[in-house]
Amino acid sequence: MANRVFNFSAGPSQMPLEVLEQAKNEMTNYAGTGTSVMEMSHRSPAFEGIIQEAERDLRDLLSIPSNYKILFLQGGASSQFSMVPLNLMTKNNKADYIVTGAFAKKAFAEGKKFGDCLDVASSADKNFTYIPNLSDIKLRKNADYVHITSNNTIYGTRYAQFPDTGSVPLVADMSSEILSRNIDVSKFGLIYAGAQKNVGPAGVCVVIVREDLIDEPQKNTPAMFTYKLHSDNDSMYNTPPCYPIYICGLVFKWLKSIGGVDAIEKINIQKANLLYDYIENSKLFTSPVVPEARSIMNVTFVTGDKDLDAKFVAEAKAQGLINLKGHRSVGGMRASIYNAMPVDGVKALVAFMQKFEKENI
Ligand SMILES: *Cc1c(COP(=O)(O)O)cnc(C)c1O
Repeated sequence: MANRVFNFSAGPSQMPLEVLEQAKNEMTNYAGTGTSVMEMSHRSPAFEGIIQEAERDLRDLLSIPSNYKILFLQGGASSQFSMVPLNLMTKNNKADYIVTGAFAKKAFAEGKKFGDCLDVASSADKNFTYIPNLSDIKLRKNADYVHITSNNTIYGTRYAQFPDTGSVPLVADMSSEILSRNIDVSKFGLIYAGAQKNVGPAGVCVVIVREDLIDEPQKNTPAMFTYKLHSDNDSMYNTPPCYPIYICGLVFKWLKSIGGVDAIEKINIQKANLLYDYIENSKLFTSPVVPEARSIMNVTFVTGDKDLDAKFVAEAKAQGLINLKGHRSVGGMRASIYNAMPVDGVKALVAFMQKFEKENI
């Protein structure tokens, strides 16, 4: 595919080419059904096979224990900002939030609508360039959950370790890193991730939730915002986002075919090291993030000169390295190097950065 570019978008992001090709081949006739997945009933045996297999493959990939439910929901990760408090803040009506970026702030603001939410720690004082020291954080023993954003898409930070919340369930927004590194799901009460960063197309959000946390929600919670309803109906209470779920299933198969999360984690570390090692030695580019909190999915960097940053982004684009502009709240550049970004894409980016540095220093 000579006309493909390396797409460093933070989301929706580059997909594995093999997945797109397979979807193309099956577009008008899925597995001999004579219909596209887009056209089939969500109650048909063919689609039931698709969703069940997607769930099984995700369970394999992350070794999700059997006492966790996997839900495929709509409304993006942003709906989870409300669904989590509505469904989990039901015992003491309290929750603790660690605020490490723009999405964490949104989650916290939403949580406050539904109960007593406390920002127990934040890295806002240094524009979210670090993760607060977890041993300093005082968590409330009677909180219904602790909420974190495990990888901060906009700022390029991530938790190297996760907080130990004892018997209080840990809830994590993993939208921009799910399936990029090994995690122990049993340490979490609930994990959610919008698909369009590392899993599939926009339109579906994956929720992995411990069964004992699926209970009656707060009073007047809309049906569509009730985990119990979706769980009791195996994500088929209403029409699920069928086509995005199918594509997620293809991505899971692709990931399994290349060796699963262990294999991709090694590749992701290799890709991130290529970039960070170069930036560390560069006389032009610097990373705004403290080394121990650097994300292996979203790599932010700056020249310190707005015009030069803009020139970099434009010239990179002309070379087929697209969507490198940083988020408007950070400026500079951001290379999102999710699972589907090949090592060659990162090598091409580093080579371009070296050339740009020579020409502009
Ligand atoms: C992109 C993103 C979101 C928002 O996801 P939507 O699906 O657009 O609602 C939330 N959290 C994180 C960490 C993200 O990267």
